[in-house]
Amino acid sequence: MDRLISPWRYAYVTGPRAEGCAFCDAQRKPDGVENLIVLREPHAFLVLNMYPYNSGHCMVVPARHVVEPSELSAEESACVWGLVARTADVLRKPLGAEGVNVGVNLGRVSGGSIEHLHVHLVPRWQGDTNFMPITAGTKVLVELLRDTYARFTAAFGKPGA
Ligand SMILES: [Zn+2]
Repeated sequence: MDRLISPWRYAYVTGPRAEGCAFCDAQRKPDGVENLIVLREPHAFLVLNMYPYNSGHCMVVPARHVVEPSELSAEESACVWGLVARTADVLRKPLGAEGVNVGVNLGRVSGGSIEHLHVHLVPRWQGDTNFMPITAGTKVLVELLRDTYARFTAAFGKPGA
């Protein structure tokens, strides 16, 4: 008797369920260098990227778990894009970036690693000689994130971080 065998499908069906969402998990933690959330608004929050392309690389994320921009309500969309605009201003002025790359990756093939919709903001400097050099090594990265987090919270006028 023939049996239809689809091991990939079997793995899909019986494999571990999606292990949560990094952005939904981060929102459940207190804000600080552990979850890297700089500030929260009613429908969106600003979080530093744990593996930055450049120091100051951050993301604006809708509070609700959505995948496509079209899933956002008008109110949520206004909150997300309003925070993108505000963050871009902060990157430009207090943090002194000469330019900012703003981008959204939709779908895994586009380079998206976390399904939960997020807008990347990557500050740019001429020749990218920025306020802190990106250096290899986890220990340095943790210090970099700690320092960047403090700069962001100060720039947004958020005390006690
Ligand atoms: Zn999520």
